[in-house]
Amino acid sequence: MSGVLKALQDAVGTDYVSDKDFMTYAYARGIDSALPPNPPDYVVKPGTTEEVAEIVRLANKYKTAVIPRGGGCCLMGGSKPIEKGGILLDTARMHKIINIDENTLTVTFETGITWAELNAKLNELGYYTGNLGPGSGISAVVGGGLSHHSVGGGGGAKYGSCTEHVVALEVVLPNGDIVNTGSNASIYTKEPFCRFGFGPDLTGLFLGDNGLLGIKTKATLEIFPRPKYHAAKTFTIEEPSAENSAKIWLAWRKRGDLGIYDSQWWTQLMVIGTQILTDVPMIKPWIGLDKAVFFYTIEAETEEQLEANVKIVDQICKEHGCTEMGPELKDGNWAKWHYEEQGHWLNFHGIWGGMGPGSIPLTTEHHVPIHRFPYMAHKLDEWEAAHKAELDANGGMQSGISTALLCGHTTVEVDSGLLAWDKPGYREKNMELWKSQIEMVIREGGMPYMLGEIFSKGLIDTEAFEGTYYQFLKNVKQILDPNRVLSPGKFYL
Ligand SMILES: Cc1cc2nc3c(=O)[nH]c(=O)nc-3n(C[C@H](O)[C@H](O)[C@H](O)COP(=O)(O)OP(=O)(O)OC[C@H]3O[C@@H](n4cnc5c(N)ncnc54)[C@H](O)[C@@H]3O)c2cc1C
Repeated sequence: MSGVLKALQDAVGTDYVSDKDFMTYAYARGIDSALPPNPPDYVVKPGTTEEVAEIVRLANKYKTAVIPRGGGCCLMGGSKPIEKGGILLDTARMHKIINIDENTLTVTFETGITWAELNAKLNELGYYTGNLGPGSGISAVVGGGLSHHSVGGGGGAKYGSCTEHVVALEVVLPNGDIVNTGSNASIYTKEPFCRFGFGPDLTGLFLGDNGLLGIKTKATLEIFPRPKYHAAKTFTIEEPSAENSAKIWLAWRKRGDLGIYDSQWWTQLMVIGTQILTDVPMIKPWIGLDKAVFFYTIEAETEEQLEANVKIVDQICKEHGCTEMGPELKDGNWAKWHYEEQGHWLNFHGIWGGMGPGSIPLTTEHHVPIHRFPYMAHKLDEWEAAHKAELDANGGMQSGISTALLCGHTTVEVDSGLLAWDKPGYREKNMELWKSQIEMVIREGGMPYMLGEIFSKGLIDTEAFEGTYYQFLKNVKQILDPNRVLSPGKFYL
């Protein structure tokens, strides 16, 4: 038995360490099926922060990599080894809710909990996390979402990215030290209640870090009472539908806070594609529909407030080519399903499952300011036209935008990318086309957030970082992780 294996077993117990092929190969990839699989040497499932810290100390001692993993749903190769071997640290056992505090309106938990499990518990008390994490929130965990600035599982228009409401973190640093951030950095505060104070926002250093700077073991998030009233409407939208959607979103934002919880634009390609490819029951009323779709959900505390806001929102929709589909699920009111029946998670899970055998998503999703969304949609069309012959020759790959979501006050999350076929003869070209679209999106000013291997390297390959920013990032990494043990390879670091 190797010295590392024995030391890991001593740290977490023999039941929670494996170097067996069937186990290491199971962790050789996330859902990023286009990237080559890369098995770790060991899979470890710690149960406590102290065990995580001990694993990291051992990685330093034995000069081997540690790669943290939540639900493994990163589409960019972030939750598996990028370089050869190493220790894959699966946080799945660390999923306890530690405290729901109705005085500070916060929840503190271990980061291996899924968004669904956390929100199910909060829901019993009439609360939610506001932003419900990513669309993968039934299997993706909060630690993964906080490492990605995830948005998309619901609530993005009202609450922004899921990292915006983090109050405090407990982090294991790459040298094995454990730090608490936010108000937990003080020995005198009584509970986590405030992110800011005590100098620079060191909580932010670990948010969206894609597992580069530390392993988040516990987190405290603000919680919000679920508003009593809501409205959910779905429309077809006339061409140019990307432009019309951006105009609607901007016009809403210029009217101040209208309580919009979510709003999405579905391209015609997506509306037709899902009819053919998926079994999501909510698609049934759309059969035969060949238009782009637009929807919103709104929350309010009183009926009067809801009515007043819906009136403003609907008027703006009407002025920009929207036609309402009807109030019920059977009328195709996707928004109702999205809000009332957890369609916000079921939607993406369902679509993924139904994309067709052998097909793989090569996403290039990113943020743009609302007003630049039509420009980016146009650039993606141009990219598709320029690569049409290659896409056709490589099994008939599809390119474009599936959906776009209003995110926070100022941005749109554009779900762009390629649908490819996972056949040996196509793999090299798949990667080439994926990288090409990633680089185009970055050069046109798109802001990616799920970076993993391929997007983080794309940022360096395109020399995207302004001035001394990359050197700054390198310096931070070097200070925190001098032995280069944590997630080596991301950003070429
Ligand atoms: C069906 C489906 C729908 C999706 N929908 C969305 C969406 O709507 N919006 C969206 O943003 N993304 C979406 N994604 C992508 C992805 O699921 C999310 O970004 C999600 O938040 C990843 O969480 P995870 O727990 O699976 O993370 P993982 O893939 O396990 O990890 C993600 C990254 O974080 C690091 N990491 C994980 N845990 C920790 C930790 N505790 N400390 C430090 N680093 C850590 C990993 O090393 C990796 O780099 C979707 C994916 C699928 C398959």
